[in-house]
Amino acid sequence: MTNDPSHCEQRQRLIRIGQDFWNRGWSRGTSSNYSCVVDRSPFQLLITASGKDKGALTEMDFAVVDENGKAIDAKQPKSSAETLLHTWAAVSCSAGAILHTHSVTATVLSLKFVGQGGIWLEGFEMLKGLEGIATHEARVWLPIFKNSQDMTQLQAEVDEYWKTNDVKNVPGFLIAGHGMYAWGTDIPAAVRHVEVLEFLLECVAKMMSMR
Ligand SMILES: [Zn+2]
Repeated sequence: MTNDPSHCEQRQRLIRIGQDFWNRGWSRGTSSNYSCVVDRSPFQLLITASGKDKGALTEMDFAVVDENGKAIDAKQPKSSAETLLHTWAAVSCSAGAILHTHSVTATVLSLKFVGQGGIWLEGFEMLKGLEGIATHEARVWLPIFKNSQDMTQLQAEVDEYWKTNDVKNVPGFLIAGHGMYAWGTDIPAAVRHVEVLEFLLECVAKMMSMR
């Protein structure tokens, strides 16, 4: 939350995330989008504009939308087509920040495991980087959804899944052949969850290649 109506600090933090994630290969080719809640009443989400190079974002490359993904100001750049998944996480999972990435590992593993609907992450010390997990003995199910260009339908599918499965504490999901969504109570927590989930997915991929 901020008293700054233009949310300069949040824009700068998301710009730095873009540079970092681009360097790590998680946001290449103008893919990905990042957002953070800047107000809850009325709800306002700051989100990267559509089609921007995430390694070279400027303060102009953002939009502010309401809980339905509608632009607050018609003159601002168009927000990503995937805005509805960000607003869903912000409202339904009380996320303060949502980061969507397109890493090679998440893309490949999501396609490989979409048939079983998710990936078990277990036995790794790094699981403790996820909110609410205190031991490597935890077992976390990372759901995978089929890719779709119909964001309203995809949002409804994710919402239904979250309401009917025991995934309340899972801070993210994969979209098959597409990438990852991860979130946290604030920007640092969301970054940590992206880093931890990417690390764990890389472990899974590496273990599979050793078989
Ligand atoms: Zn995407």
